[in-house]
Amino acid sequence: MLRVAVIGGGPSGSCAAEVLAKAGIETWVFERKLDNAKPCGGAIPLCMVSEFDLPESIIDRKVRNMRMISPSNREVDISLDKVYSEEDKKEYIGMCRREVMDAFMRDRAADLGAKLVNGLVTKIDTGVNRQGPYLLTYSDYSKGEASGETKELEVDLIIGADGANSRVAKAMDAGDYNYAIAFQERIKLPSEEMKYYEDLAEMYVGSDVSSDFYGWVFPKYDHVAVGTGTMKKNQTQIKELQVGIRERAKKRLVNGEVIKVEAHPIPEHPRPRRVVGRMALVGDAAGYVTKSSGEGIYFAAKSGRMCAEQIVESSKGGKRIPTELDLKKYLRKWDKKYGTTYTVLAILQFIFYRSDAAREAFVAMCDDMDVQRLTFDSYLYKKVVAMNPWQQLKLTLLTVDAVARGLLKPTGKYSPVPSAVRNDDEVNKMLAISTIKGGIKVGNKSKS
Ligand SMILES: Cc1cc2nc3c(=O)[nH]c(=O)nc-3n(C[C@H](O)[C@H](O)[C@H](O)COP(=O)(O)OP(=O)(O)OC[C@H]3O[C@@H](n4cnc5c(N)ncnc54)[C@H](O)[C@@H]3O)c2cc1C
Repeated sequence: MLRVAVIGGGPSGSCAAEVLAKAGIETWVFERKLDNAKPCGGAIPLCMVSEFDLPESIIDRKVRNMRMISPSNREVDISLDKVYSEEDKKEYIGMCRREVMDAFMRDRAADLGAKLVNGLVTKIDTGVNRQGPYLLTYSDYSKGEASGETKELEVDLIIGADGANSRVAKAMDAGDYNYAIAFQERIKLPSEEMKYYEDLAEMYVGSDVSSDFYGWVFPKYDHVAVGTGTMKKNQTQIKELQVGIRERAKKRLVNGEVIKVEAHPIPEHPRPRRVVGRMALVGDAAGYVTKSSGEGIYFAAKSGRMCAEQIVESSKGGKRIPTELDLKKYLRKWDKKYGTTYTVLAILQFIFYRSDAAREAFVAMCDDMDVQRLTFDSYLYKKVVAMNPWQQLKLTLLTVDAVARGLLKPTGKYSPVPSAVRNDDEVNKMLAISTIKGGIKVGNKSKS
């Protein structure tokens, strides 16, 4: 009977384990920290809720308005009331706390029969030519002791669902990927101030918040996650960029208190090898985060599921050990299904995040209803959206305009205009009394 170890109990690992356990395959899930709060914005597309049968209880907020804010502080609302129907309000972006969502999915896999081990895998002996059987050494924390008890387990197959710093990827010599570094502060706001973020999230673009990504303010149940990301080569600037996003969003954050500061890598493309021997990578360990949007939760869950489905099929329900070629079928299916999505989003990032002029054009373009519909259909439902010839022409012209602005015009100076929510007098009065408490040291730039 096939024995599978899933290393990592985030969305990718739990979804893989669930499929394996349902098929009756002997499955262990290793998670080093059962209350792990993965640093994450926690935004999930609507289709994930139904596809992965997620209960409403794990969703803190249903966002129906995404406010895009340009380098000159032009605000464009992508309101789902306008894009879809105002009546049933069935479309939304789910905002989750990862500690809540991950625990739910992991416990569900365990309830279905996966053996959940509260343990850190420290060593993987991969056998002759990395073909297994695989001997795992791990620290078992199930007795609650800080150091853990060293144990071993032999398995026939490993799913590496252990995130961006994957130990499985190292054991299988999967090769490196470029990564971005993301920084985030969770800022608790008084309940009155939280009302502004009731069903609204913000995305800020501009060289002051990131030279190659965007900054965000995403609402959670009683706080907002405020963060930004930038590619590895610029990582020394990350705190300065975090000051930038705080500065831009200060009107709404001035009364906040930082309750958590977190940082984590975000992979930028798949690893050179995702299957070696009987070891397969999924989620961030494989490198499945999209450019432009930095979305990885759905793709982690989906890749875990697809990899496990391939294992169930190739092992005939656990009766034989799948080969490397069997496991590579999962990669072929994955690349066929999502290859274009990754390419398109990489191109969009290249075009629109290259200068403040291009970012300005990008936000302006988001004011167009066809662009809004296209963006949200493809994000919320993960489907390829057909466009009529007029829409195609319009989109092409808007993109050409953005390219021209990005290439030809000099980077514009950042010149804030008053926000719709508070005027500057009000903000200054508030800043004189108090400012965001805690978090990173922001020096003079943000006056806190
Ligand atoms: C700041 C930030 C914001 C983000 N915001 C969003 C967002 O809003 N929406 C979105 O879709 N994506 C977002 N992402 C990306 C998203 O967080 C990841 O794509 C997603 O978490 C990948 O899931 P995963 O299961 O592959 O890996 P992870 O979620 O990283 O899970 C890996 C798990 O493995 C465990 N583990 C690791 N090593 C071991 C070991 N040796 N032994 C045992 N256990 C181990 C870890 O404790 C962890 O629980 C964001 C990322 C960052 C850094």
